[in-house]
Amino acid sequence: CGIVGYVGRRDAAPILLEGLRRLEYRGYDSAGIGVVRDGRLRIGKRAGRVGQLREALPADLNGNVGIAHTRWATHGAPTDRNAHPHTDAAGDVAIVHNGVLENADELRARLLHEGVDLVSDTDSELLAHLIARAGHGLADAVRAALDEVEGTVGLIAVDRRRPDTLVAARRGSPLVLGIGAGEVLIASDVAAFVRHTQQVVYLDEDEIAVVSPDDYRTFAPGAAPTTRAPVRVAAET
Ligand code: GLU
Repeated sequence: CGIVGYVGRRDAAPILLEGLRRLEYRGYDSAGIGVVRDGRLRIGKRAGRVGQLREALPADLNGNVGIAHTRWATHGAPTDRNAHPHTDAAGDVAIVHNGVLENADELRARLLHEGVDLVSDTDSELLAHLIARAGHGLADAVRAALDEVEGTVGLIAVDRRRPDTLVAARRGSPLVLGIGAGEVLIASDVAAFVRHTQQVVYLDEDEIAVVSPDDYRTFAPGAAPTTRAPVRVAAET
């Protein structure tokens, strides 16, 4: 339902939690956050409110890159296990996803047939496995995974082995970048981060963004770079 990402030099978790709180008005049933710390993914997620998530977080969640989600369940009940972020089996890649995969049943059957251990009932978890399986380079892996899925996708992915980078993708679900000084935020709605920066880049349909603290790059579906200058939005929306 709502997604937020942060990469920069500040502690990501408080910024992500505040972002989730700003998206609460949209409605949701579960919330979660994932941060890379010391080269490992640390994840806290649960059914219920963002306030309850705060209480349930691991103590050592500090790190400078992370992703967060408020879920409105479409595939699988609103349980702790079905909350986002979802990871691949090795715990290398984590994703948050807004939207619905129309070919989830078929993808699920195929991954199970290939021996992949699925731990949730969601369509979104399938994306984590597809991305991890696609291999080298997170952006290329996300692109390859998107080729296999039908439906709507607002996605942020992180790979614990490249903790300075987030990859975001938009197909039928809004996504916007916030360009700060030495940091980039990503969200489904500018309300999530407008306190931190008012310089924003709205992703186009089917665009992919690769962001790091001092840089953002956007790409058309065929991987050709696109040029997007930030536009300025009002401080509070
Ligand atoms: N279809 C996904 C799920 O059920 C994402 C729903 C959402 O957009 O929050 O987990």
